[in-house]
Parts: sequence; C-alpha cells; structure tokens
Amino acid sequence: MTKRVILLFPILLTGWMACAQEPMKPKDTEAWEPVPPKVKPGIFASPPSDAIVLLGNDWSEWNGLKDSEYNWNEPKLIEPGWDLVEGVATVKPGAGHIISKKGFGSMQLHIEWRAPLMTVGEGQDRGNSGIFLMQNYEVQVLDSYSSTTYSNGQAGSIYKQSIPLVNASRPPLEWQSYDIIFTAPVFAGETLVSPAYVTVLHNGVLIQNNVEIKGFTRFIGNPEYRAHPVKLPIVLQDHGNMVSFRNIWVRELD
Ligand code: MG
Repeated sequence: MTKRVILLFPILLTGWMACAQEPMKPKDTEAWEPVPPKVKPGIFASPPSDAIVLLGNDWSEWNGLKDSEYNWNEPKLIEPGWDLVEGVATVKPGAGHIISKKGFGSMQLHIEWRAPLMTVGEGQDRGNSGIFLMQNYEVQVLDSYSSTTYSNGQAGSIYKQSIPLVNASRPPLEWQSYDIIFTAPVFAGETLVSPAYVTVLHNGVLIQNNVEIKGFTRFIGNPEYRAHPVKLPIVLQDHGNMVSFRNIWVRELD
C-alpha cells in the first residue's frame, strides 16, 4: 500500500501543479508587435507602393549579358539588345540575356510574360525563356499550353528540379504572370548553411509550394550549390525565342 502511494506521488504532484497554473486566456497568444506596415496594394498585379519597378519604358534597370555567361564574378555586360516598346521587352534571338543592375536576395518577384505563336518548334524550342533568380536558379518560361516536354522542364518548373503542381498555362500570345516568393540560400564561406526555397503562382495558381532548390540550374548533370554573394541580379534568358516581358517588380524580403 505504502509503495503504491509513493509511486503515485509524482503523478499527483504534477496534477496539482497543473491545476495551480492559471488557465490560458485568449490574449495570452495575441501578438501585437510588430505592427505590419500598411501597403496600398496595386490593381491586379500593378506594383504596390513599396515595390522596386524593374521594367518601365527604358533600360535604366538592365544591362545585356554577353553569350551564355552566368559568371557573377565577371559578367560581360553589354547594352541590352532586346526590343523595348511601351514597357514590353521582347527577346531578340542571339542578342544575349538581360540582367538587372540591382542585386536581390530573398524577394517577392512579379513578372508577366508572353510566348510567341510559333509555327515551328516543339518542346523546349517553343516559347522558351527563363527567369534566373540570383543568376543561378531558373524558373522556366515556356509555351506549355498544348506542347509537351519533360515535366521538370515545362512552364513553371524549377528547371530540371521541380515539376509544377498543375499546368496553369495560357495559350501563346496571351499574357501570363508569375508571382515568385524566393528565399535566398545562406552560405558560410563555401559551405551551404540553408538552401534556397521558392513558391510560384502561375496566373494566380499555386504551382510550386515552398520547394527546396537543390542547387544552381544545370542543363546537364545534377544540381549542386556553389557559394555566392547574398545579393545577385535577376537574369532573363535569351533562348532564341521571341518571348516578351512586362510589368516586372520586386519587393525585397531581406
Ligand atoms: Mg529556359
């Protein structure tokens, strides 16, 4: 009998202590600080008041990038060779990529794009371009409305890494939007501390849900990380197809 009381004692004590604590009230879990700053939202994807507008009627925020250079140490900058008419920038095949003058880390990026109507070309040769976040991580731009290719290379894929959850593509010649929430990778020296993550909405539809990026985009071979600065430009790809872009804005998240 005594032994049983001794065994029960810790349980009874714990119960008594729990009863002695004040029950939680609703306000115990209310966080009043910090107060999120007020931002006036734009009308359907137009830039909110705190956004950095990257594409207007001139190339003031962009350089051209010679050849296929993705080397952030010594990018060979040239004048943008694409056409720019009334805020719409269109790839001029062979003119090279364009690269933002500003560097960005974690960000919310809005970008609108339009695939051309092509009479020839299939798969990767149909409305191909790309948005390289931090010059390294490609969100694929492609005409995937009725054209097929490998799933991890279609529109909205994290190229050769992550298949979109659904295909939210619109037909060629129609404007489409990507809203991208990107968390930059963290490096300590040459060592990866935390990988990049990305969420993508395609025409307002969630297609990538906080996906871990496995490394820089590679056409051949498996992705791997290579250490880089905390901020790097955005690159828009010249893949030889006359893809257009407009209404590009960024909200920095770091
Ligand atoms: Mg591409």
